[in-house]
Amino acid sequence: MSQIVLGADGAVHLEPAPPPPAPGPDEVLLAPVRIGICGSDVHVLRKVHPFIAPPVVTGHECAARVLAAGAAVTSCAPGDLVVVNPLYSCGTCPACRRGATNLCSHAKVMGFALPGLARDRVVVEGRFCHRVPPGIPPRLAALTEPLAVGRHAVGRAPVNLGRVLIVGGGPVGLAVLLAARHAEHVTLVEPVRSKRDLAAALGATRVITPDETPPEVDTAFDCVAAAPTLATAAAATVPGGTIVVVGVPRSATELALPRLQRWEIDVRGTGLYTGADIDAVLADPPAGAERLVTADLPADRAADAFAATADPDQIKVLIGWPDPAA
Ligand SMILES: [Zn+2]
Ligand SMILES: [Zn+2]
Repeated sequence: MSQIVLGADGAVHLEPAPPPPAPGPDEVLLAPVRIGICGSDVHVLRKVHPFIAPPVVTGHECAARVLAAGAAVTSCAPGDLVVVNPLYSCGTCPACRRGATNLCSHAKVMGFALPGLARDRVVVEGRFCHRVPPGIPPRLAALTEPLAVGRHAVGRAPVNLGRVLIVGGGPVGLAVLLAARHAEHVTLVEPVRSKRDLAAALGATRVITPDETPPEVDTAFDCVAAAPTLATAAAATVPGGTIVVVGVPRSATELALPRLQRWEIDVRGTGLYTGADIDAVLADPPAGAERLVTADLPADRAADAFAATADPDQIKVLIGWPDPAA
C-alpha cells in the first residue's frame, strides 16, 4: 500500500501506507483510479496555502472503484465507479439540515484538513460517494469536483445570466464556462493563449487578454479574486448586475465600493459545492469537459505530475492507478 504525500520538505513523496481498516457498516473500501491535481494542492506543497501546512496526504478530486461496502451503505455497491465528495459535512448542523453542506460548521476537506484520497486503498463514509453513470470513464469522472465548483458558482448568480464575463481560464474558469454556456454571450479573460483557445473551442463567444477592455456584462465571475481582477469585474458589470467571487483570495482585497453601492451591483461568494451539484454534473457532464485533461500520469510519477502543473499550458493533470475492474 502506498500514498502520495506533499512533504514538509516541499517535495512530493510516494510513501508506504498502512493497509486500510475493514469498512464499517456505513463505509466503503475504495480503489482510487484517477485523482486530479488542483491549484490549492500546489499551494499546500509550496506552503502558500492560507490554512494548511504539509505534510498532507493529497487528493480531493477522485474517481474510485468500490471494492467493498458496509451493510448500511445505499449510495453504491462493489464494482461501481464513484466520485467522492471530499467535503466532510456533519449532516446535522443548521446549514447541513437545509442542504447547504458546503457551509457546514464542521466542514473539512479531504486532502487538506483531513487525509486525502491519493492512496491505493481508502475507506470513506458511503454518504460521500456518488455513483458514476455507465459510459463516463474515470478520466472524465475525476473532473466532477472542479465541474461541480463551476456549476455551484453559476447557481449563485441570477438564473438569467445575461451577458457573462469570466476572469481566468484555468480549470475553474473553464468549469464556470462549461456551466454557463446557456448565457446570451460569454467573454473569457485569460493571459495564456492555449487556455484562450480552449475556452473558444468550449463555447466562449469571445476570448480576450487582460490588456483588452471587456464588454459590459450582467454577470461577472472572478476566478482569480485579486485586486486587479476584481476591479476588471466591477468595471465591466452593469448597474443591477452581479459579481460572483469564485477564486480563492490570498488576502482581504479592496473593492470599488462607491460603484457597487450607487449602481446596486451585488457581490456574492461561492464556496465549493453540495452533493446535489455533484449529482447534477454526473447526470449531465458538459460536452467537451474531457478536453480539460492535459496530462495523465501513473501514481509512481506523482512528483512529475505536480511538476507538470507549473507549465501554463497544462489545465488539469491527473494521477492514475490501475482500475481493478478493467
Ligand atoms: Zn479542487
Ligand atoms: Zn453540518
